[in-house]
Amino acid sequence: MRLDKYLSDMGVESRSVLKREIRKGLVKINGEIVKDPSMEVQPGNSEIVYKDEPIHYEEFSYYMMNKPVGVLSSTEDRKQKTVLDLFSDKHRKDLFPVGRLDKDSEGLLLIMNDGALAHKLLSPKMHIEKKYLVEIPGKISEEELDRLRQGIQYDTDLIAMPAKARCLSSTEEGSRVEVIIMEGKFHQIKKMFLALSTDYVVTKLQRLSMGPLHLDPALAPGEYRKLSEEEVQALK
Ligand code: URA
Repeated sequence: MRLDKYLSDMGVESRSVLKREIRKGLVKINGEIVKDPSMEVQPGNSEIVYKDEPIHYEEFSYYMMNKPVGVLSSTEDRKQKTVLDLFSDKHRKDLFPVGRLDKDSEGLLLIMNDGALAHKLLSPKMHIEKKYLVEIPGKISEEELDRLRQGIQYDTDLIAMPAKARCLSSTEEGSRVEVIIMEGKFHQIKKMFLALSTDYVVTKLQRLSMGPLHLDPALAPGEYRKLSEEEVQALK
């Protein structure tokens, strides 16, 4: 791996800044100044120091983002902003979001470069619970929530697995419901509510948790942070 890629993968600086900094002599490998950004390095085999700070390489990086409404859960798009566009340029380029939240949905989104773990988290066999806050216009009844709890048919050929559903508030103006599902089919929550009534057009959909991970309340929409070692282990 190139030296400048090693350092930018670890979030030290953007690749363009690093090329400059390396040429200035700010990087040492095993105690020797190296001024060639394209120098090949083996992660784990050399001690790489940037501005006197040792930089250790990690194969995988894991983040949680509070996805804001209005951005796509994809890595890149020619026209629209994606969640990866919200990252600073000091990040590794192989990150991807784990599963999708719709453009108009918000909340907890995992972003990582660990394909095997992402695959596991998305596998329907793993039965990972995803908790959402759902807002709809109108007053929802317990009987309607029971239909979600029993497993509602929401497309001509799709039946949802029984969901957990808890009413947080409900008036003629609108209802707030906490829903937990283990699947993640296209527009699933929105379609489940539309199957109850065509009036129940979801006006807010926020993912609050995924398996053991909860949306960090310190993250404003659009902000992200690295997962702690404990959080990563809890996902595995
Ligand atoms: N269900 C939906 O309808 N949309 C999402 O973004 C997530 C779950």
